[in-house]
Amino acid sequence: MRAGAVFPGQRKLEMVALDEPKISSPTQVKLRMLDVGVCGTDREICHFHYGTPPEGFEFLVLGHESLGEVVETGSGITRVRCGDLVTPMVRHACPHADCVACRSGRQDFCYTGNFQERGIKRLHGFMTNFVVDDEKYLHRVPPELREVAVLVEPLTTAEKALLQIDRIQQRLPWNAASNQAGACGRAVVLGAGPIGLLGAMALVNAGYRTYIYSREPSVDSRAGLAVSFGTEYVSSQEQSIPQLGALVGNIDVIYEATGASQIAFEMLDVLGANGVYVLTGVPRHGQPVSIHAERLARNLVLKNQVILGTVNAGRDAFEAAIRDLGIFYQRWPAAVRALITRRYPLDRFREPILERSGIKNVIVLDGNV
Ligand SMILES: [Zn+2]
Ligand SMILES: [Zn+2]
Repeated sequence: MRAGAVFPGQRKLEMVALDEPKISSPTQVKLRMLDVGVCGTDREICHFHYGTPPEGFEFLVLGHESLGEVVETGSGITRVRCGDLVTPMVRHACPHADCVACRSGRQDFCYTGNFQERGIKRLHGFMTNFVVDDEKYLHRVPPELREVAVLVEPLTTAEKALLQIDRIQQRLPWNAASNQAGACGRAVVLGAGPIGLLGAMALVNAGYRTYIYSREPSVDSRAGLAVSFGTEYVSSQEQSIPQLGALVGNIDVIYEATGASQIAFEMLDVLGANGVYVLTGVPRHGQPVSIHAERLARNLVLKNQVILGTVNAGRDAFEAAIRDLGIFYQRWPAAVRALITRRYPLDRFREPILERSGIKNVIVLDGNV
């Protein structure tokens, strides 16, 4: 079988030939891969900023956002059957006996950092024909989501954030999504990439009046897409952050999905009373940014604010993402489909990774582009 791979040592991207993997324990499942989504993490790996091959390999098979079909099951499998569609988790637990997070199946909260990640860190990814994985990392997806289920993994970022926001806002004796005497809570999403747009869908669906603040002008097709599923789009080229703050009113949630630190911290100035600020982007190569630390600390205290960083996702967020993607697809079928810009065959895997274009590009592994 073939795979799209990166050779970090030789700084090249190439197709490689691999032996088909075999099931070697009762809890394993063999998948035929169908779709693999490409994101900024793949782009960084392919610019050699990131990405570690498995031990004994010069290359890393790419791909962490994926959809597969079960084609074979070990003798101890109970939750999936042949023919089921599944989306696999990306992160595998670290080996340390005293990492309570990994030992509890919550490697997304790993303490040691010695976890492995499919297609990112010390485990081959899904951009290939067949994969063997442990049942505990798989989530069943209903067949009606076949066309869009590759979006489950990127949606888990928002779902994990929402689960945490709900926990944090249990400190308030009212529902934070409808906090103002029956009116909606207000959320601002920073960035209109796939993480931002999926996050905005999740916030709209959770009951927030949701604004997307991004650099594309308000005549851009992304702005039209954002409006089509019930958000208000505000272009950062047209309105300043203070203007955005005045427009929205008390901002209950800011969901940052850009990885751009300067604007991320400037946005803190407009976070409302009792607000939660969620950072999901990973800034990597920026210069130091200046922030008004005193004002920031003052606001945090006097307005009961929370700043939350979140990465990866647990089983609960995967289950929520599958459920919610189904709801989004029913509510806004055209908008969900429009998140997937183009599909490419495996032998053209370099193109969508190296030439950034559109929202979400997908590598198709079963030949039907
Ligand atoms: Zn990704
Ligand atoms: Zn761990």
